Amino acid sequence: MAARDRYSRKLECSQCGHAGFAEVSESDERRAGNRDFTIDEMPAGFAPEFPSTDPRKYMVHCQCGHKFRFEQKTAYPPGGEPR
Ligand SMILES: [Zn+2]
Repeated sequence: MAARDRYSRKLECSQCGHAGFAEVSESDERRAGNRDFTIDEMPAGFAPEFPSTDPRKYMVHCQCGHKFRFEQKTAYPPGGEPR
């Protein structure tokens, strides 16, 4: 049975600046392709908009109405997705 990694990660809204720490967990068998990601505790002011087991697809909804991905890339590779 696979163990799970638990960690906290800061969520920060780029629109209103609201921030908080989410408690999340995911499988440590990342080579399997399915990280089985889940947010165990959402910080106040944020809510799940589109839950996913992939943190790059998990959409979070801020109290101001802004929606963004849980895990965002800071730099895009050439030919990568525009946003
Ligand atoms: Zn916001």
